[in-house]
Amino acid sequence: MEKDAPHILLINPWIHDFAAYDFWAKPLGLLGIAAILGTHGYTITYIDCLDRFHPKLTERQKTGEFGKGHYLKSPIPKPATLPDVARTYSRYGIPETLVRESLKKNPKPDVVLVTSLMTYWYPGVLAFIKILHEMMPDVPVLLGGIYATLCHDHAVKHAGADQVLGGTDEAKLLDLLDRMTGFGTRRQFVPNDLDTYPYPAFDLQHAISYIPILTGRGCPFRCAYCASGFLNSRFTRRSPDHVIEEIVYWHEKHSVKDFAFYDDALLIDGDHHIMPILEGVIRRGISVRFHTPNALHIRPITKEIAELLFRAGFETIRLGLETAFFDHRKTLDSKVGPTEFERAVRLLKKAGFQEGQMGAYLLFGLPGQDLEELKASIKIVKGYGVRPVLAQYSPIPHTTLWKDAVTASRYDLASDPLFHNNSIFPCQKEPFSWEKVALLKRLTQ
Ligand code: SF4
Repeated sequence: MEKDAPHILLINPWIHDFAAYDFWAKPLGLLGIAAILGTHGYTITYIDCLDRFHPKLTERQKTGEFGKGHYLKSPIPKPATLPDVARTYSRYGIPETLVRESLKKNPKPDVVLVTSLMTYWYPGVLAFIKILHEMMPDVPVLLGGIYATLCHDHAVKHAGADQVLGGTDEAKLLDLLDRMTGFGTRRQFVPNDLDTYPYPAFDLQHAISYIPILTGRGCPFRCAYCASGFLNSRFTRRSPDHVIEEIVYWHEKHSVKDFAFYDDALLIDGDHHIMPILEGVIRRGISVRFHTPNALHIRPITKEIAELLFRAGFETIRLGLETAFFDHRKTLDSKVGPTEFERAVRLLKKAGFQEGQMGAYLLFGLPGQDLEELKASIKIVKGYGVRPVLAQYSPIPHTTLWKDAVTASRYDLASDPLFHNNSIFPCQKEPFSWEKVALLKRLTQ
């Protein structure tokens, strides 16, 4: 007798933080898994705690430029370990009553998959898992995602999940679910060939205000402050045609206008990757807007790439400059050299980009950072007519800079991921001044 399709419930949990905003942020990995499970015959349901389009929410959550927008925000008590942070701590996302309603309304799942993003957002994950155990105590809960990968031991000890899964191995997860449910599936994709993966299941959402696009995984660089190499040890890519077809699919089938590239290394090997992708988009004649919340590498920007970015409809350009000083930079990264920023900005302007469309990320809050140097970097970036965007440093386990971060912090970073929160500038020693932070932020305006 053929077994009924098992039911897997997927959860994107709340964010607990001092600040959060939907800057084109979607749980791409979880929705990718949803699509894979769907194509393998599983029944899928999805609860998105960060749903800005839940039918029972007011209009305020729905507005925003280029599909971005505010989450619903409910103040909650601040963690007792952060008494020095004079800011309101909140739960971002839909009310708990709506979550409980959905859990009651849906048929009981066989397994629940919960994702996790920033390490310091784990309290939102734990809160959700607690509700799951209360409402469906006999259903196994699997926790994956970034927090589960970077802070695996912490998650095993504190999250309350039945299993904590690290990394991004969809084939392993499918095998595990097959074993747990007794559902035998025949693999419909080739693990190392991203072109064989289905498009992430964005259509599980109540509305699609933008689409995140990932054209490849990983990055060939190993910057000291970044966990890309730990999260994806290999640099793998989809073919340009597969990417073009996905963009056209969401645009034509779901009228999506805004696309945010999530790649860590979108422009690397441009002749074989971004150039054919953009040529394809232009050839298809679709009118869309592209955004790059993950920084673009500066070095690969050529005249041809700058022109294609403009013609294809790039609207928001963010460049990974990090600092305008190069004297001690080798210990941090090697992705950009002294004259390359100026050259890239010149090419982008010549291609047609306006000053308001271009921003350059500058790292703020690095261990031992000279804030005068940061001030000077802000001035230099502004001088080129580019908006300085402060990227507040979050210390990340398994990165080269982690040890220095632990030494520099006024908190015991290793004891609790809450201390990784970039809103609290964890690597600034006492006396730490919020006025100084406010002044630097004002300088970027
Ligand atoms: S910061 Fe950017 S270039 Fe450096 S490793 Fe991370 S993704 Fe790659």
